[in-house]
Amino acid sequence: MSYKAEYIWIDGTEPTARLRSKTKILADGAEPGDWGFDGSSTNQAPGDRSDCVLKPVFICPDPVRGGDNKLVLCEVFLVDGNPHPTNTRALLRPVAEKYAAQDSWYGIEQEYTFFKDGRPLGFPERGFPAPQGMYYCGVGADEVHGREIVERHLDACLEAGLKVSGINAEVMPGQWEFQIGPAGPIEVADHLWVARWLLYRIAEEHDVSATLDPKPVEGDWNGAGAHTNFSTKAMREGYDAIITACEALGTKAQEHVKAYGADIERRLTGLHETAPWSEYSYGVSNRGASVRIPWQVEVDKKGYIEDRRPNANIDPYVVTRMITGTCCEALEA
Ligand code: ADP
Ligand code: MN
Ligand code: MN
Ligand code: MN
Ligand code: MN
Repeated sequence: MSYKAEYIWIDGTEPTARLRSKTKILADGAEPGDWGFDGSSTNQAPGDRSDCVLKPVFICPDPVRGGDNKLVLCEVFLVDGNPHPTNTRALLRPVAEKYAAQDSWYGIEQEYTFFKDGRPLGFPERGFPAPQGMYYCGVGADEVHGREIVERHLDACLEAGLKVSGINAEVMPGQWEFQIGPAGPIEVADHLWVARWLLYRIAEEHDVSATLDPKPVEGDWNGAGAHTNFSTKAMREGYDAIITACEALGTKAQEHVKAYGADIERRLTGLHETAPWSEYSYGVSNRGASVRIPWQVEVDKKGYIEDRRPNANIDPYVVTRMITGTCCEALEA
């Protein structure tokens, strides 16, 4: 007998990479091995040297197909054995390794928006729905749209063994969030990419698309972010380390903003619970700051911080590499 392995990888689309996947039939008991694909169709190779290599890095049960079927997240390599230039996970590995002793944890809040017929799910054919205010964490058919998909997605994440920690309806109609973490810098990003794939795949069955567009509707409508919660062992034990991390992020503010997703200026306007992209700030309980220290963390004098800047369309391998690099370097000094 055999099973299906869905090989998933991240392509070379600029400025925001997309997910790709294809199926390999494997004999029962066989481990998913290296595979290949046509890089000329994914912005990853020229046509005359089109072969790229897939190396499995994270394997989990496939909750869509069920049974013994598997999802196989891969890194992309060149045929010469080097990581492909689009392989940001390979760049994260040495940074995660260097600071492994600090035991960094991440919790990423992935916001996204459902679209159908060219507009957000729940938006009327013409004009706009009632202004924001009642949709966040709402209940009832007049307030939330797409819950059936959201519930199926949550179950799928749990069946796959992903470290999902919760879901909620967001401020704009058709907008939702799921959280992955806490987990280390590589694991949180692997799980987030697979959770995104499951979201697209499950929404597809409802003829709905999920988008990570950071500002899906212009005007007085919330954007979509990927708030990134972060701690090290030292931060979980004392407040000095919390402040050190906040200050360190301020010393490299623009480098971070550039790595936090395409079109970030459209979302970080200073309105809609954001700080302007051009200014760095941190504060207790402040949802208008770049980085928030949760209220309870100040009371306990230990815990974690929330970087509120990352866009929904981040590459989480890039974001956890940047934060680990900046904060762990400062905390080591
Ligand atoms: P918010 O109040 O900003 O909406 P959420 O509850 O949506 O926050 O998300 C918080 C995330 O932070 C969760 O994924 C949670 O697992 C994670 N988290 C909790 N404690 C820590 C910690 N010490 N270090 C890193 N992440 C953490
Ligand atoms: Mn073919
Ligand atoms: Mn949240
Ligand atoms: Mn949110
Ligand atoms: Mn948040």
